[in-house]
Amino acid sequence: MSGYVLIIDAMSNRRIHLRSRLDTVAYQVDLAETQAEGLAKIRQDAPDVVIIADDLPGLKLRQFCRALRASPVSQLTTVVVAVRSENHSARVSALNDGAHDVIDQTADATDVKARMRSFLRSRQFLEDTRAHRAPQQAHGMSEAIPEFAPRIIATIVCAASFDEAEINYRFGAETGIETRLVAAHAARRAPDEDSDVFVLVESDHTDEARETLAALLTHPVSRHSRILFVTDRTGKTASPLDLGAHDQVPTTVTQNELALRIQRLARRKRDADRQRKATTELEHKAYVDALTGLNNRTALEEYLIGTDRALAVHPRQVAVMIADLDHFKAINDNHGHAAGDVVLVHVAQTMKAHLRDGDFIARYGGEEFLIVLPDVTPAQARSVANRLRDAVADSPKAIKNGTYVRATISIGIAVAQRNQRVSTKALCFAADRALYDAKRNGRNRIEVSQGAIRPAIPEHHMGA
Ligand code: GH3
Ligand code: MG
Ligand code: MG
Repeated sequence: MSGYVLIIDAMSNRRIHLRSRLDTVAYQVDLAETQAEGLAKIRQDAPDVVIIADDLPGLKLRQFCRALRASPVSQLTTVVVAVRSENHSARVSALNDGAHDVIDQTADATDVKARMRSFLRSRQFLEDTRAHRAPQQAHGMSEAIPEFAPRIIATIVCAASFDEAEINYRFGAETGIETRLVAAHAARRAPDEDSDVFVLVESDHTDEARETLAALLTHPVSRHSRILFVTDRTGKTASPLDLGAHDQVPTTVTQNELALRIQRLARRKRDADRQRKATTELEHKAYVDALTGLNNRTALEEYLIGTDRALAVHPRQVAVMIADLDHFKAINDNHGHAAGDVVLVHVAQTMKAHLRDGDFIARYGGEEFLIVLPDVTPAQARSVANRLRDAVADSPKAIKNGTYVRATISIGIAVAQRNQRVSTKALCFAADRALYDAKRNGRNRIEVSQGAIRPAIPEHHMGA
């Protein structure tokens, strides 16, 4: 992982000391002495991470963070403020001013390096997903200051020895965070579904918190939650940040800083949840017919490709049916196109309601539907088709002025026998011919394709 880090500090010994703790093989590290010099370098070179001393002369951190976020060049730049150790109020005000993180000016090299890797990973993730984000979500990593804080749920996971009174003190009522205290084994077995953030408190003597971290990151219920690791074991073992924790603090962290960090982790989790939901909705739209709510043609084509692959490996009995509304043009002509739509949706939903879960139905063309029934005999396929035909014919649909429209459908069926290697394309073709027969023979009826279905799948497409 490569990255570009800019250190802005007026004191040269501190600049150099901090640089010595960064992995200069992995990162390009540049130094600036003043805010103006730093800003010029930021504009020109767009660093991934800026580490800025909180006592830099003339620094107004809030404005500095805002300026970086406002520029497209530095929108994703991580702002880290270096403060004198044990200066708890400086840490909290830096986070409040919009810094992404705070480090001790004396922090050890392992901790600083692990944090850098974590920032660069987050940045990479933001860059990878930015193209798919809604414009209002495409903000940088520095924190926007929230206008109001929604209720946040944090699950505190700690070794049995951890003092509950201490926990209660740390999460005082005024933080607005609802806390739940659970034992590590309970969190691993059944993590809390509502939890935005898991706080894992590590004891010096066991690796239980690390095991819990690994378990939470993979558990289906908690894998999208954020994890804050509380530990004093820095520098001695692998960093929790490298193991997948989203943030890490020492046990000396103050109540205010802990609350702030939990709030920002919860906010990021909710952003990511929203983003995932939007992506799922987009995918859904790509495969669903907007009028009827059934699968659309894209979904159908993908389904047929998948079915062909499966059939080539394990030939099964499968039926393809094509259903077409009878004299639908006349319904449009007599009642108007809008009423035609209402009837079409009604017929689509009626058919869907009379199929089993594993069956597949898609809107194939204007008023044509394609249905695939896996594992059915020709007799069973015929009985399903009759059920659909009856259900549609027996449920006239009310349109305007109390008028009822009774639609009917004709269905053509083709069934592949278990020992007959045919493609779904060949089945569709045969079903279409059977549909033509059903229309010719009077409509509101079904016909099953007779004789062998051709063409067969070419030999080289067959599985072992
Ligand atoms: P047949 O029994 O032979 O199938 O007769 P038909 O009238 O149903 O068949 P035809 O192919 O002549 O006409 C199909 C009609 O379906 C014409 C077209 O305008 C209508 N149609 C197709 N898609 C839609 C739609 O989304 N909404 C509405 N309202 N009508 C549609
Ligand atoms: Mg028709
Ligand atoms: Mg048609």
